[in-house]
Amino acid sequence: MLNLGTAATPSNTNGNSKHVKMLVLGSGPAGLSAALYAARAELAPVVLTGTQLGGQAALTFTIENYPGFPEGVGGAQLGELFQKQAEHFGATVEFDSAFEVDLSQRPFKIVTDNGDYKADTLLVTTGASPNHLNIPGETELTGRGVSYCATCDGWFFKDKKVVIVGGGDSAVEEGLFITRYASSVTIIHRRDELRASPVLQKRALEHPKVNFLWNTVVTEVIGTDKVEAVRLKNVKTGEETIFETDGLFVFIGHTPNTEIFKGELEMDDLGYLKVNDKMETNVPGVYAAGEVADPHFRQVVTSAGMGAAAAIQATRFLEAESS
Ligand code: NAP
Repeated sequence: MLNLGTAATPSNTNGNSKHVKMLVLGSGPAGLSAALYAARAELAPVVLTGTQLGGQAALTFTIENYPGFPEGVGGAQLGELFQKQAEHFGATVEFDSAFEVDLSQRPFKIVTDNGDYKADTLLVTTGASPNHLNIPGETELTGRGVSYCATCDGWFFKDKKVVIVGGGDSAVEEGLFITRYASSVTIIHRRDELRASPVLQKRALEHPKVNFLWNTVVTEVIGTDKVEAVRLKNVKTGEETIFETDGLFVFIGHTPNTEIFKGELEMDDLGYLKVNDKMETNVPGVYAAGEVADPHFRQVVTSAGMGAAAAIQATRFLEAESS
């Protein structure tokens, strides 16, 4: 067994304070892949799940492009498999979230909902959150017809009319998913061309329940207790119309969850953490992987790969220190 640093497996050293060799923030594909690699390196990593166990991937009904599952695999099921595999080798998964970090010296200090941690290395895999339209009525009617998760809420729209905003893979894929329940799905896109992959576009364009409104934006969500309609604006003509609907699903991209690292870690203008090709941030001993550091690919398989790479590099960092 390698002796990597001074910290043993998680142990209370001061009330709720635990000292760990590696703390992983986030339990999506990047975090749990990192935990698997770190656990196999006998670092006894601790994973704080954040608010969404399994990350965004767990909210996807079927993942068809993760290798090894020719028939596809449920997002939540894949997350559970990742977790089980990491735990099998000694990772600990805690239902906890970090809300403050001090990375000015090692061990790093991480304050969580349930106490605090001192960590010799930190892996940031906090992912990203769905963007909002920021239009009148959106916040008020969230959970009353406005949703950002088809897998979570699609069922509520059985035999109902639904509109989707966005033109990327998420909008089209989730729109297709909602056709299982809804009587009609109208995808509203601000341009006249989708960004989604050709295979998804073809499926949507050929689907009898899916319609498109091009060059159109939603400017208001209308309803008292629940969504009743949306106000639309044609961006070419300026014409405004009211479109009756029971639900509005918004899939217009994501913002990385990096708020707590402001002033601690370097990030780009959009808030993505800056990493080099070894997943190293600007702070030695702190690594980032997955969507929090990836504005380009954002796939389950690429996030998992980044997580593994980050854990390998963190292991080497601790090995170099102890030799
Ligand atoms: P995305 O690719 O960034 O697409 C966002 C869409 O929302 C774009 O069509 C964009 O329009 C539109 N949009 C952005 N802001 C808007 C606003 N304020 N009002 C109206 N429309 C707005 O995001 P995503 O679809 O969530 O995909 C994220 C990443 O995950 C991508 O890399 C994607 O390939 C990947 N992904 C893959 C799969 C899959 O492989 N099955 C599934 C889901 C996601 P414009 O086109 O005009 O910019």
